[in-house]
This record gives sequence, structure tokens and C-alpha cells, in this order.
Amino acid sequence: MSNFKVVIKVTSKCNLCGECVKYCPTNTFEIINNELVIHQERCIYCRGCEVLCPNKALKVELLNEGLEITIKEPLTKGFT
Ligand code: SF4
Ligand code: SF4
Repeated sequence: MSNFKVVIKVTSKCNLCGECVKYCPTNTFEIINNELVIHQERCIYCRGCEVLCPNKALKVELLNEGLEITIKEPLTKGFT
């Protein structure tokens, strides 16, 4: 099965305007103690925040962490 993971990056262009906090449908962002806290595991990869951020400070990426293949039986039958 393939294994995809969302990675959200925020650059120093972020001025904590809070637009992504208000917009995100899954509450991925929070501003706590003047810091943007990102709960990446909540993200559904809609990428709306990337478009909406007035400072172009967000990048949302989907990484394929590779395929996991499990071989249950050795494939020797029929190859002799
Ligand atoms: S919308 Fe952009 S600038 Fe505003 S808080 Fe979010 S990441 Fe920062
Ligand atoms: S891509 Fe969508 S779900 Fe993910 S953090 Fe941005 S607005 Fe939220």
C-alpha cells in the first residue's frame, strides 16, 4: 500500500494575521503565544490555505513515503 504524508511549511513571511486559522476546515492551525502552531495530522490537503495566505508564507506538500510490499509466500512455485 502506498503511504502518503502531508507536510506543511511556514516561512518567516508569516505575520500571524490569522487568516489560515479562520479558513482551515479541519482546524489545522492555531496561534498560541504569538506562534503559529500546525497540527499536520489534521490536514486534508485541500491547499486552500496556500492560496489564501496574504503573505504567501505557506507551502503544503504531499510526500509519497514509498510503497510497502509484503510478500506472504516465497514465489518459487512454477519457476523451477
Ligand atoms: S495566513 Fe499566512 S501570514 Fe496569516 S497566519 Fe497564516 S501563514 Fe501566517
Ligand atoms: S491544506 Fe486545507 S486542510 Fe490542510 S492546512 Fe491548509 S486549509 Fe487546512
